[in-house]
Amino acid sequence: MFNRFFLSFIVLSIFLIGWTLPRNNNPYIVILGIAQDGGAPHAACTKECCINKWDNPKLHNQVSSIGIVDPLTNEIWMIDATPDFSLQLNTLTMEQKGVFKGVFLTHAHIGHYTGLIHLGREVMGAKEIPVYAMPKMENFLSNNGPWSQLVDLNNIDIKSLKNNTTVKLNSNLSITPFLVPHRDEFSETVGYKIEGPNKSLIFIPDIDKWEKWTKNIKEVVEENDYSLLDGTFFDINELPGRDMSKIPHPFIVESMEVLSDVDSKSSVHFIHLNHTNPALDSYSTATKTIKNNGFNIARRNQKFHL
Ligand SMILES: [Zn+2]
Ligand SMILES: [Zn+2]
Ligand SMILES: [Zn+2]
Repeated sequence: MFNRFFLSFIVLSIFLIGWTLPRNNNPYIVILGIAQDGGAPHAACTKECCINKWDNPKLHNQVSSIGIVDPLTNEIWMIDATPDFSLQLNTLTMEQKGVFKGVFLTHAHIGHYTGLIHLGREVMGAKEIPVYAMPKMENFLSNNGPWSQLVDLNNIDIKSLKNNTTVKLNSNLSITPFLVPHRDEFSETVGYKIEGPNKSLIFIPDIDKWEKWTKNIKEVVEENDYSLLDGTFFDINELPGRDMSKIPHPFIVESMEVLSDVDSKSSVHFIHLNHTNPALDSYSTATKTIKNNGFNIARRNQKFHL
């Protein structure tokens, strides 16, 4: 009798403590995908990296994208509109059944903007969803079909961004685009800094080698609380038969070297992993190496409170 009473008391206490604990209502970033533009499994790949993924949607890795969520104002934003846009928008609206306030684009490579097709007449028939774009990106969308139809039918409302110029999202949140060197065939490429009331996060899904950038990545990592960095390839051995100088990215092993004497290594999370990248597999030697060196790999649904 006493035991049953005591047990009920404990259960009730835990419930009440949980109920009264202050909730963290700060805005946060949620990871919506961690794969390179082609996702994983990757078109035409029958190699070991993808062979077991084709028939198992639970093993699929969606394309690199992050959501910005403000639980206080009920607002959500997305950075990049990927080929997995529909799934990722669903994840984001499940996080916060709020108002979808827009998309910020990094550049015009297929993994980063083609999800905009879902906003058009054939799918959502969206009304004036703000799409934030740099000048060349804006020009590209406005003057090439099918994207120009989104503009003409007012499915999207393009908002012009300027390099290093901050956009205030609300009284809690702001976002700043900054140019990075990349293969800029159709548009320039930017990374973003997102600032909340307490913390800041850097998102650079695509960049050529760090030394081509005018900024010092070590300083950038040290100045921010979290850094989500281009982790496309683990090392140079990853794509036998392809000239990797034509698709330059900082290899994860190079980034770990460059950042080796940074104190806040654990704030670095690699993202935008190619299907061939062994770090996509949580149990691989590459993953262990990254962790043992003090760094991290971004995982879907992971949150970073700002
Ligand atoms: Zn990409
Ligand atoms: Zn593969
Ligand atoms: Zn790219």
